Amino acid sequence: MSLGKNTVHARKQKSLAKCHTMTQAPAAEFRTPASHHAMQTPVLVLNASYEPINICGARRALVLVLKGVAKTEEEHDAILHAARVLMPLPSVIRLLEYRRIPHQTRALSRKNILLRDRNTCQYCGVVLTAGELTLDHVIPRSRGGLSTWENLVACCHPCNRRKGNQLLGELTDMKLLREPRPFSLHTSRHIMRMIGHSDQKWRKYLYY
Ligand SMILES: [Zn+2]
Repeated sequence: MSLGKNTVHARKQKSLAKCHTMTQAPAAEFRTPASHHAMQTPVLVLNASYEPINICGARRALVLVLKGVAKTEEEHDAILHAARVLMPLPSVIRLLEYRRIPHQTRALSRKNILLRDRNTCQYCGVVLTAGELTLDHVIPRSRGGLSTWENLVACCHPCNRRKGNQLLGELTDMKLLREPRPFSLHTSRHIMRMIGHSDQKWRKYLYY
């Protein structure tokens, strides 16, 4: 069996036809351009079991749907052009095969630490933009502190300067708001709720 150009073309035609039947939108709606902004719309990703596991951009979501890896569960009214196919902008997609997601092994990165700490200085509680925050080693590196989930917190610059190379035990006026922990399923879900706050279609999957 050959998988030549014709097969690919036929497949595209097929999915195009499917999209048309699926949406049954009036012709006028198909004029909506696929703007760069729309392609970045956050899409909730569910596991095959309907458990929310991630958030991705609309572009990535459409790729997953077109590849047959995921199926659109909820969609917006907007129509997007993706790979020469007109498709409704997805709001929620679901993976067709169950994937085991190790939540504890999420990448340790500045972005994820700030997400976990909700852009809040863990010493004084001020909420700032990501650019205005720094990361603080609870046990300073100079004193053997490691770069781990348990030893890194979001911190404002004044608190960071004040703490310097001291240990918390040596400071009477500085305390952590809460114990730093690895990214948990609970944290991920909280973040998903915050990002999906404006999208009513996410609600039934996130239980709020
Ligand atoms: Zn602070």
